[in-house]
Amino acid sequence: MALIIQKYGGTSVGGIERIRSVARRVIASASKGDRVVVVVSAMAGETNRLIELGKTVSSRSEGREFDVLLASGEQVTTALLALAIEDAGRKAVSFLGHQVQITTSGAFSKARIESVNTDRTLAALKEGYIVVVAGFQGATREGSITTLGRGGSDITAVALGVALKADRVEFYKDVDGIFTADPSVCPDARMLPRVAYEEMLEMSYLGAKVLHPRCVEMARRNGLPLVVRSSLNFNPGTQVVPEEELMEYAAVSGIVCDKNQVKVSLNGIPDRPGILAGVFTSVAEAEINIDMIVEDTASADGRTAVSFTCGSADLAAAEKAAKKITSAYPGSSFAVRSGLNKLSIVGAGMRLHSGVAAKMFTALAKEGVSVYMVNTSDIKVSCLIEAKYSELAVRTLHEVFELGKAPSGRRRAASRGK
Ligand code: ASP
Ligand code: MG
Repeated sequence: MALIIQKYGGTSVGGIERIRSVARRVIASASKGDRVVVVVSAMAGETNRLIELGKTVSSRSEGREFDVLLASGEQVTTALLALAIEDAGRKAVSFLGHQVQITTSGAFSKARIESVNTDRTLAALKEGYIVVVAGFQGATREGSITTLGRGGSDITAVALGVALKADRVEFYKDVDGIFTADPSVCPDARMLPRVAYEEMLEMSYLGAKVLHPRCVEMARRNGLPLVVRSSLNFNPGTQVVPEEELMEYAAVSGIVCDKNQVKVSLNGIPDRPGILAGVFTSVAEAEINIDMIVEDTASADGRTAVSFTCGSADLAAAEKAAKKITSAYPGSSFAVRSGLNKLSIVGAGMRLHSGVAAKMFTALAKEGVSVYMVNTSDIKVSCLIEAKYSELAVRTLHEVFELGKAPSGRRRAASRGK
């Protein structure tokens, strides 16, 4: 008898009919003899609505009371799903974060889970209940309600999976699984039957909005199998597995595009130890969430150029910080370029294949796409390009790396030594 965590996102519980259909799915799994713990998000759009509501009476947009407010979205869906399951004839019980003792740090709106008590959940499962747990929320040791950050229900699901030693966590979405590229951009995109944790982690960090990176990392560390599948059909979906389970694979598994990127360049900054520390302390103080950093001492006059990227939500703050930083150094200047996208190719197979970056740059150059910054790891290459070229670039790279034409799944011998 397996213990399965099923997580349903906001779209899957976005209305009463959807909730009824989730109830039927959950009951079908439980009827096979599995023990089922369900984690739900708030109804689609509800968390945004609650944030806006809070902002109508407060100049703030986060803090203790905001977490009390936002946690209410998941309280509603948890209760509605438990009611719908009971109505369809199975025993169900709902628990909020503090009731199953999901204990977190006190960092409101971005709390970290410290521990999960399994007693109440295991007791309810033993009595034959389907357990429905509110995602996204926990409580501090002192009893204040906390939330885990946007998209945090994924983290709840994996944390429960780890604590309960579940056999797997199934994520139910409005998409069929993980694709080689966004199917709305690339009609040729293919669903990947399996991806490695490391690939999933990179894709999540690089802008694929499918799973929260923190939950992928937690699952990887604990060897907990994940499945991403649709709540609208019965297709098997994508399994996220250890890399060792993928026998042979292509250099590139998927293409991800992160929109709304901004590049800030600081030129003519004095080149001496401690300068970078000063620059990035100022950036951190402005609470700018930076991504790529490039420092390049090109000139012989003791000056250097530093560039960094951030999301466009931080554009105004970045401009202000750049102005402040450069005003401290006579002769220095700054430039801010918005309207950029970060286009990334990801694949564990890159470790075995050479020339992947060259192939990417050649393909982009052929289409006349300029690259403004490059960043790599052992399993990804990211390029900053103009937003207007990103769809063309995704389709071009999808074709160049032959992502649309695998004969059976992703396993195929890729040509080596490119
Ligand atoms: N309801 C929360 C959000 O919209 C958490 C989640 O959906 O995972 O961010
Ligand atoms: Mg979500």
